Amino acid sequence: MKILVIGNGGREHALVWKLRQSPRVSQVLCVPGNGGICQEATCLPGESRNLDDLLAVAHQQQPDITVVGPELPLSLGIVDEFSRRGLRIFGPTKAAAQLESSKSFAKEFMQRHNIPTARYAVCSSEEEMRKTLGLFSTPMVVKADGLAAGKGVVVARSKEEAATAGAEMFNGKLLGAPSEKVVLEEFLQGEELSFLVLSDGERVAPLVVSQDHKRIGDGDTGPNTGGMGAYSADSLVDSAMVEWLVNHVAKPTVAGMKSEGMEYRGILYCGLMMTARGPMVLEFNCRFGDPETQAVLMRLESDLVEAVEASIEGRVSEGVFRWSPDASCCVVVASGGYPGSFVSGKMMSGLERVAEIPNVKVFHAGSTRRDDMSYTSGGRVLGVTARASKLEEAVACAYEAVKMIKFEDMYYRKDIGARAIGKPEN
Ligand code: AMP
Repeated sequence: MKILVIGNGGREHALVWKLRQSPRVSQVLCVPGNGGICQEATCLPGESRNLDDLLAVAHQQQPDITVVGPELPLSLGIVDEFSRRGLRIFGPTKAAAQLESSKSFAKEFMQRHNIPTARYAVCSSEEEMRKTLGLFSTPMVVKADGLAAGKGVVVARSKEEAATAGAEMFNGKLLGAPSEKVVLEEFLQGEELSFLVLSDGERVAPLVVSQDHKRIGDGDTGPNTGGMGAYSADSLVDSAMVEWLVNHVAKPTVAGMKSEGMEYRGILYCGLMMTARGPMVLEFNCRFGDPETQAVLMRLESDLVEAVEASIEGRVSEGVFRWSPDASCCVVVASGGYPGSFVSGKMMSGLERVAEIPNVKVFHAGSTRRDDMSYTSGGRVLGVTARASKLEEAVACAYEAVKMIKFEDMYYRKDIGARAIGKPEN
């Protein structure tokens, strides 16, 4: 079987790594891939935002299945385009991907289907937003409607701050392009949790839960990033909570989408806040998370290809996944300066030694490969991931591996998983 993976980050490296383990897979291709992926799959040129590039590759290579990593091609309709041409592809259609690509769509959908979420208002103009602000207490949350790669959410401490953030979303100053709608939202307090399910449009199967660390600094300080680390452990939630989340969040979402004529297939990522009033959905994503995928797939013992096919063919069941009871931890190693400006092209060392450690895997994100050497090429460079029977050991093992890797100006958080193992965060 020939599999095509779309994307170039740590998530895609983890997908390639896991898909390749299937005894049914003979070849993995990736567009465009990165310096880690090219050591395990055939990388082909193309941009994941350019559907014509992707269609041309698929036409030429005739993969048996295409697996899409990032949200952008899904929100542009890659699944619709591939399916129309008879190419098997894993993920939601453009209409179903609105659960991620439009925050106002997601909020209104959740309200229609009684899915627990923060109270909110959708505003279509700056004037409306300024008037509506008065109905909220502070802190409050201001969200731009469309895809914003994590930059479209502002937690405002005052109404003035909220008004400024909202105005900058409408006039394009914040995100580079103007937003047509802005969502105002009640501020929720609690622990965040990433709860993902596999869906075939009707049935769902949960993945193991995980938690990511979005801020750049230890103790959750500083600006937001794409994600600085993640961990996964069964101790994060009990099985009764998983059942509740399946019945009150995942199933009503998938059933609601079907009833509205937008069958949802693929991974449904529910970003939750575990509040005093119970779990509430902060956001939906229409694909695997990054870097949660690195931690989660490290625990998957069954064949990922089987799960992907079950979603495409409408036969998802609980038994589609078999998980290790172990815990896992992924520490993201970044270029110094990220998420601001940083310098690329630094030579990395120590990767060969780390490759020999059992139960550790380094997933590459912003890296390139030249003359058998790896160089940095992005903000988030590596996701050093470890698995062990206890979370504490997985964390320690990931950090031991990180310390063996060197490049100029490398940066990583020192407290991934710290809260869950009861250590102080600094
Ligand atoms: P989102 O893209 O909607 O998940 O928002 C990104 C991040 O902003 C979340 O992971 C939370 O840390 C934070 N956030 C979003 N909505 C809220 C909310 N209603 N209350 C508190 N924090 C929030």
